Amino acid sequence: MKIVVVGAGLGGVSAAAGLRRAGHEVTLCERGAELREAGTAIVIMPNGVRALDSLGLADHVRDQAMPAVSGGLRDWRGRPLLVTDVADAQRTVGAVSVMSRTELHRALRAPLPAECVRTATPIDALEPDADGVTVTSDGRAIARADAVIVADGIASGLRGRLFPGHPGLRQVGRLDLRGMLPNPPGLDVTELLAGILIDRRSGSMFGLFPVGDDVLYWFTDSALGSAPPPEAGEARQRLSSLMADWHPVVPALIEATPVADIYVDAVACLAEPLPSFAVGRIALLGDAAHAMTPDLGQGASQAFEDAAAVTRHLAGAEPADVAERLLAYDAERRPRANRLMRASARQSRLTSQTGAPAWLRDALLRAIPQRLATRRLAAMWHA
Ligand SMILES: Cc1cc2nc3c(=O)[nH]c(=O)nc-3n(C[C@H](O)[C@H](O)[C@H](O)COP(=O)(O)OP(=O)(O)OC[C@H]3O[C@@H](n4cnc5c(N)ncnc54)[C@H](O)[C@@H]3O)c2cc1C
Repeated sequence: MKIVVVGAGLGGVSAAAGLRRAGHEVTLCERGAELREAGTAIVIMPNGVRALDSLGLADHVRDQAMPAVSGGLRDWRGRPLLVTDVADAQRTVGAVSVMSRTELHRALRAPLPAECVRTATPIDALEPDADGVTVTSDGRAIARADAVIVADGIASGLRGRLFPGHPGLRQVGRLDLRGMLPNPPGLDVTELLAGILIDRRSGSMFGLFPVGDDVLYWFTDSALGSAPPPEAGEARQRLSSLMADWHPVVPALIEATPVADIYVDAVACLAEPLPSFAVGRIALLGDAAHAMTPDLGQGASQAFEDAAAVTRHLAGAEPADVAERLLAYDAERRPRANRLMRASARQSRLTSQTGAPAWLRDALLRAIPQRLATRRLAAMWHA
């Protein structure tokens, strides 16, 4: 079958690679001038690794399994609130991988030959009829397809066209900063690895993960937000002041990260779940379908689960079967992805609490047995 995938982010390239491996004639259309993914690192949860495995794309990712043995939540000074046994959860459910986004994207797109990729091709309309879909770029028909996979990201323009009544994105009013740097000599970060620090005074958080043996990836979420977001230098300065009295590793890492390696995002998510991930011969995946806040680190892993599911449902399909197969994809993926989208929003509210509710939250977190927390983590990682 002829399949067009719109958008070459992590979700689009993995779907294109999977569908091509399943024997379809795939065209991947990307509006950017080249295929690339910029910006720091990414945590891939065991469910995401398993999904990539089913697409034949996990070899490189498995090599980047995270060495940390414990993780979980701490207060801003690094005192434990709910420390989980990450090694145990990884043994039970599978490895968490942490790797550079650029490297991950390169590995996922490696199986795609140049002739199936069209860069500098923004898709502005999809026109379905009885036999297929006409794909339009800059007002011109550029392809006909039996099925179209829409993977055009959080700000998806095609989502709005497919669901004109949907309210689209909701700005959460918070700012995320991410940075990556070589482990500074003499700074002992072991205790904080694979952990999240939360501060009930300001409702801010700081997470730290190892990328291989020598590189660190940190991310923060705070109410520093303003629209539009400040540029990286200004954002780093504000963050340094906000976190000056945190565990000494935190301000040291923020200061040691070059401004060019700091990325700033205003946090947004879908205002409401989509009513369907499939419309006739067209399916949505990744952030286009279920943009969630980054709090559970599940955005890309859910995109990989989508890519694996759509590949499986379209395996061996004839053009006449497409709509029915995509309905089955929707029935499989929408409940789980939307559940995680809601859980991420809840987690965002929980970590951003301040005052008495946050004090109560910290007391409750301290009372949760470690075994229970580890089991909950393992349940989320189970696809
Ligand atoms: C701060 C932060 C931290 C995160 N951390 C993690 C993490 O640790 N783990 C995790 O799993 N997830 C994480 N995520 C989420 C994750 O990055 C996303 O869920 C994932 O990258 C989405 O991939 P995607 O392919 O759906 O969309 P995108 O990566 O946004 O790709 C969309 C692509 O479509 C292209 N495009 C857009 N419109 C068109 C068009 N009209 N025509 C053609 N091409 C088009 C774009 O140029 C882009 O290449 C994080 C997100 C944020 C903001």
